[in-house]
Amino acid sequence: MADRRPVIAGNWKMYKTSEEALALIDELKGLITGVDDVDTVVAPPFTALTVVADRIKGSNIQLAAQNFYWESEGAYTGEISPTMLLSAGCTYVIIGHSERRQYFGETNATVNRKIKAALAYKLVPIFCIGESLEEREAEKTFSVLDKQVSEGLENIAADDVEKIVIAYEPVWAIGTGKTASDEQAQEAHHFIRKCVSDLYGKDIANVVRILYGGSVKSNNIAGLMVQPDIDGALVGGASLTASSFAGIVKFKIS
Ligand code: PEP
Repeated sequence: MADRRPVIAGNWKMYKTSEEALALIDELKGLITGVDDVDTVVAPPFTALTVVADRIKGSNIQLAAQNFYWESEGAYTGEISPTMLLSAGCTYVIIGHSERRQYFGETNATVNRKIKAALAYKLVPIFCIGESLEEREAEKTFSVLDKQVSEGLENIAADDVEKIVIAYEPVWAIGTGKTASDEQAQEAHHFIRKCVSDLYGKDIANVVRILYGGSVKSNNIAGLMVQPDIDGALVGGASLTASSFAGIVKFKIS
């Protein structure tokens, strides 16, 4: 099995003013000092990116944005460009989160454009996919995931795909307190890796990191991380408190 470095990413969603973000990042920094075998990433709202970037300089924490627009500049009122994210200190960007698909009309096609733009600007895309409860109950999970992967990665070269982090987030498990069982999550991750393998071959599929997201907490991370195809977590609610997020980042220790 490929040696994939774990990624633990916290999605702060539309929480935390700049002052609150600073308090959270300062506390988190202290709690995870010395953890150097995990890529720890935080995704504050746009307004707090630069202040958080300043505080994490030289630390083991990297910065992500929660969204962006694919053009580098222009008359696109209300949008943020990849160039702006780079200048704010981001190295990652979350793309196609289910809340963006659900409330802001994002589709596999717009997600594909954003992944291409992120790669062009050397931002690491965290490419979110996942089925809804209805789709799972109708036994459409695998067909939905297959379509999200193939359309999201359309016309992306193999050496770029290696850099992408995929986040499997079953919509029914986000913010609901319902986690997919370790086995359900592993089954979906294995299937996603197979989709990547069918498109790009085994060697590429083996290096792509696939995160699980959906009510991850410090008390369920360990069982997820021992699964062979789970390489980390995208965390919402539990990333809003330093102690709970640190407990997840330190999953090997706790
Ligand atoms: C998320 O927003 O990506 C997420 C997984 O949220 P939560 O951990 O709160 O379910």
